[in-house]
Amino acid sequence: MDLEQRLRILVVGGGLAGLAAAAYLRGRHDVTVLERFTLVDFARNDYAMSITANTHRFLRELGAEDWQLQAVPLKYVWGCDAKGNVNESVAQSITPSGATTIFARRSRIHKELLAAATGRGGTGTPATIRENVKITSIDVEDGVIKTEDGREFRGDLIIGADGVNSIVRTAILGPSAPSASPSGVAAYLCTATSPDVWRIRDVDRMERWAKGKAVIVGDAAHAILPYFGLGCNLAIEDGEALGYFLSNVTSASELPQALERFTALRVARAHMVQLAGRQVAGLVSEEEKESLPPFDGKAFMAKVYACGTGGSGGRGGQEGGAGGTGEGGKLHLEGRTLINK
Ligand SMILES: Cc1cc2nc3c(=O)[nH]c(=O)nc-3n(C[C@H](O)[C@H](O)[C@H](O)COP(=O)(O)OP(=O)(O)OC[C@H]3O[C@@H](n4cnc5c(N)ncnc54)[C@H](O)[C@@H]3O)c2cc1C
Repeated sequence: MDLEQRLRILVVGGGLAGLAAAAYLRGRHDVTVLERFTLVDFARNDYAMSITANTHRFLRELGAEDWQLQAVPLKYVWGCDAKGNVNESVAQSITPSGATTIFARRSRIHKELLAAATGRGGTGTPATIRENVKITSIDVEDGVIKTEDGREFRGDLIIGADGVNSIVRTAILGPSAPSASPSGVAAYLCTATSPDVWRIRDVDRMERWAKGKAVIVGDAAHAILPYFGLGCNLAIEDGEALGYFLSNVTSASELPQALERFTALRVARAHMVQLAGRQVAGLVSEEEKESLPPFDGKAFMAKVYACGTGGSGGRGGQEGGAGGTGEGGKLHLEGRTLINK
């Protein structure tokens, strides 16, 4: 691809979603990540995250080895009732590629995604990271970003990876954009140095993630309750899917169609995970309660594992999830069929 055909992509937010998107897009496009803090700050916000096998495989393909992630394999998940009686045990499978569900340190995942996005070893051009850049306004039609200190950036595409309080989301959806609301659920985190309590918020489901020259990914698009520990997984899958759908885009005029295909695949999957989290938390509406079948952990995890786009840039992979259809171990997407490995 000629240099002229590479899109200028601006990513707002250097968290897990932003860096994953940068890592997957740098092969074909010129990517700049704009982060309001410094990336060193991310090392302080550390805890173990569960990473499902499909995302584990993505991380490996991006060059992150298990020892770098300080990965510990997760073999079983046990479900308990309110009295502590175990009522469900779900074995975590190891895929033929060796990927499995793992626990990994958040700071390590961030560090390895940063290396994948900016390292010299990767394909294409290393992404540029600009720290201490706080975005204050977005023009989604013209692809213009303005910063708190008066600077202006212009791109062919703006990716909003700016988390649960995303301003890119507001720019895309306008006054009807849902805001992060307290769910009534809290997470208690205890580290060697300090105990911490998070009040967990989630964001109502959105059918639309893109408008003009902007699209949202990660928590900006689908902040979910942490019952299944899937927020980071969805964020990394978003990056992989964007890389796939934008891999053959050579002009800004092709973007709307590519973004439409991206959101068609990803919105359905994110909604499936969000609804499951709300169902398990007992936070669904009366109407939903009546229409939904009882939650089935095994069936849900089978759907979670069936994901991905089939891989751009030579990565093989699983297909389908909520965006495709599955039958007999094969999952279909866009007329292609891959074996679910
Ligand atoms: C306690 C806890 C435990 C969790 N455990 C798991 C788990 O086990 N497994 C799992 O998969 N997920 C887990 N999650 C969820 C996971 O952490 C999130 O889903 C994921 O980090 C979202 O990444 P993100 O990049 O979309 O958002 P963020 O990590 O919020 O990143 C957004 C970035 O955008 C930047 N930004 C925001 N606004 C601006 C602006 N105006 N200008 C410039 N930059 C801006 C922010 O500084 C930030 O760096 C957990 C979450 C919590 C709170």
